[in-house]
Amino acid sequence: MTSIINPEAIPVTTAEEWQPDPQTPRRRPPWIRVKAPTGETYENVRHLMRSKALHTVCEEAQCPNLGECWGRGTATFLMMGDTCTRSCGFCDIKTGRPSPLDWAEPNRIAESVRAMNLQHVVITSVNRDDRADGGAPLFAMVIRRIRQLQPGCSIEVLIPDFKGSAPALKIVMDAQPEILNHNVETVPRLFKRVQPQDNYEWALTTLENAKKMDPLVLTKSGIMLGLGETLEEVVATMHALVNVGVDILTLGQYLQPSRKHLPVERFWTPEEFEMLRVTGLEMGFKWVESGPLVRSSYRADEQVRALSQLNYVRVRDQAE
Ligand code: SF4
Repeated sequence: MTSIINPEAIPVTTAEEWQPDPQTPRRRPPWIRVKAPTGETYENVRHLMRSKALHTVCEEAQCPNLGECWGRGTATFLMMGDTCTRSCGFCDIKTGRPSPLDWAEPNRIAESVRAMNLQHVVITSVNRDDRADGGAPLFAMVIRRIRQLQPGCSIEVLIPDFKGSAPALKIVMDAQPEILNHNVETVPRLFKRVQPQDNYEWALTTLENAKKMDPLVLTKSGIMLGLGETLEEVVATMHALVNVGVDILTLGQYLQPSRKHLPVERFWTPEEFEMLRVTGLEMGFKWVESGPLVRSSYRADEQVRALSQLNYVRVRDQAE
């Protein structure tokens, strides 16, 4: 399988070298280049999602890496419908009253994981604040069903904050995902502007509690850059994440999905992303994925492979 975007080939341009057009200061810089998705593997993934009536965050959030990830035969499943109960200023997933939960969805996802022969899978969901448990039981169901249908596949769940509810989180942790991911998304000062119904403390508590409930889980979080945060604020937020035991960090450039969404305040350069990657490793993260097009699930399979070789990933009896 060939990768459509080769990050090594993204030209390294410094902030000094790149001058935005004064007429259109938010024009994308030359290092943000997305190729149209094509190819047989991409078509197979697309067909599978349609035939199983499944949603992916790749499509719903207009992820710039869709061509690359689907071309590699990977995707991030979006559970609990395509309608979110929250309305974050950066997110392109539609907001409104969601449909009732589909309790057969975990099985269809597990069947797709087997059909794609995935060795690592990422599953996320919309926020379901219409339910007291936030939909946590569906996460537990999908983890257990994948274990049955595709033994040996490591499972990463990118969960909502469940409004900081420890009982809801416990439902997920009892199913023992290999990776528990919850994105803090931005620095505390911008939280209310970027994600008005979320709460910085809920995010940190979720990550801290996950580790307390299952010390063998790897925890992961991500920050979007370009919403007006300063370097000092980013580094302080990284410190806060390390202090609650987060193992894996992702850093990527925010891209405005439409004029209705929050504007891009600044494009961080590839050099700055690399500097933050090194800073994060020095701080104590086990892995930092940092680059303009990095998204929470970008190359998650490769991260797990590398961390497994370092014996960081829980070894599971395949007969479980
Ligand atoms: S980075 Fe994640 S959301 Fe984006 S296309 Fe890849 S798997 Fe999908």
